[in-house]
Amino acid sequence: MDCRNTIGRNYHCDAQSEMMKLLVVLGAGESGVGTAILAKKKGYRVFVSDKSKIKENYKEVLEHFEIDWEEEQHSEDKVLNADIVMKSPGIPDTVPLVKKLLDTGVPVISEIEFAAKYTDATIIGITGSNGKTTTTMLTYHILKNGGLKVGMAGNIGKSFARMVAEEDHNYYVLEISSFQLDGTVDFKPEIAVITNITPDHLDRYNNSFEDYVASKFRITQNQDKENSLIYDHDDDVIKRWLEDNPIRSKLLPFTISKELNEGAWLENNKIVIRTDNKTMEMKADSLALEGLHNLKNTMAASTVAKLVGIRKETIRESIQNFDGAAHRLEKVLKIHHVQYINDSKATNVNATYYALESMNTPIVWIVGGVDKGNDYKALMPLVREKVKAIICLGMDNSKIKYAFGNVVDLIVETYAMSEAVKVAYKIAERGDTVLLSPACASFDLFENYEDRGNQFKEAIKNL
Ligand code: ADP
Repeated sequence: MDCRNTIGRNYHCDAQSEMMKLLVVLGAGESGVGTAILAKKKGYRVFVSDKSKIKENYKEVLEHFEIDWEEEQHSEDKVLNADIVMKSPGIPDTVPLVKKLLDTGVPVISEIEFAAKYTDATIIGITGSNGKTTTTMLTYHILKNGGLKVGMAGNIGKSFARMVAEEDHNYYVLEISSFQLDGTVDFKPEIAVITNITPDHLDRYNNSFEDYVASKFRITQNQDKENSLIYDHDDDVIKRWLEDNPIRSKLLPFTISKELNEGAWLENNKIVIRTDNKTMEMKADSLALEGLHNLKNTMAASTVAKLVGIRKETIRESIQNFDGAAHRLEKVLKIHHVQYINDSKATNVNATYYALESMNTPIVWIVGGVDKGNDYKALMPLVREKVKAIICLGMDNSKIKYAFGNVVDLIVETYAMSEAVKVAYKIAERGDTVLLSPACASFDLFENYEDRGNQFKEAIKNL
């Protein structure tokens, strides 16, 4: 057989490779490149295909591992010839090539599913609409302080596949988006966390909130009674779904509004965590992270830590000395007694709700960007109570002006971060907070939320 007819000119053909299965990777981002490395290591023939340009650093990695790739096209003859295809999470199922693969019966799998097959480690999968990164980082921080051999991967830093290929751990803490869950069939984390579910990314789910919720719950689909689901008991969407769709997992809810028999809750300003009939308590005001949402993230992370046997004292210490993640309610500077806070990662209304909620001072609020179908109603009481001025920062600010025009006296439109920060500096008075919490995506004026947050910090330093 001539390999060149089937998988392209650049492919290395030798007697052995004809025996091996061909794994095609669609999309050469972190997940795709990670999968390619792991697959190569496990003896697959690998071909990586990306419809866009591949980043230089990823090209170098592919070359280094002698993995064949193409960019700015998908050569259908090669892709359709695959034994198995890994589709990167950013590519929707509706893309014609993916439809064709599915029609032809080629298995289309996801990166986390593929990677999980090559490790016996305990997997902790963390998903939700908001709080994934914070909860993942905090969980990792506690487990690491507890002396476990633990890796952190997924939607954060290295892909899971790359980590399995390159590092050997006994525990993996994975941040998992709904897109990553969509392609899973057998994925079975020992511990799953759903931080909360609020409308986001609905464009990928036929504008169906139900489909999006179901996608998040895929994290539990293979769990059995030996496995745990940790979830927000104050979240009606989650509670309703669990009522309608009973699951096998052991349920460990967390809540800030009532006492429970098992899980995590608040009692006399203490966090109580009870798992397997063992109870521990921690002072609720001892957390390094501020805000009710972070109290919840801490409950989730600490419950995971209890389940894997971390000592109480280590958990207490770890939640006190955790630094937090950049761009999430990140304190930047205090200038003339005005605190500047970077919450650029707040790309939806719910995240901004918690940011506004956690402020104890009058706020000059920088908001706006690409609106993902936002409904600002939920923010009204907080805005009325705390926001003294709104600085819009987006190409189209009409919806924000319409929503808050009658609620806030001062609304200013700006189109660049430097301008927004200068205006905020002029408006803010001693004791106020200037809060960047946009409730919107960043792609109209910035590369991404990190770029937006970095420009914010830069502009403050230049004041
Ligand atoms: P994700 O990885 O799910 O996007 P992050 O931890 O990066 O979550 O936080 C994203 C935004 O949501 C930040 O603005 C943060 O302050 C806010 N946030 C964090 N945890 C929660 C939570 N439990 N509920 C609501 N908002 C949250």
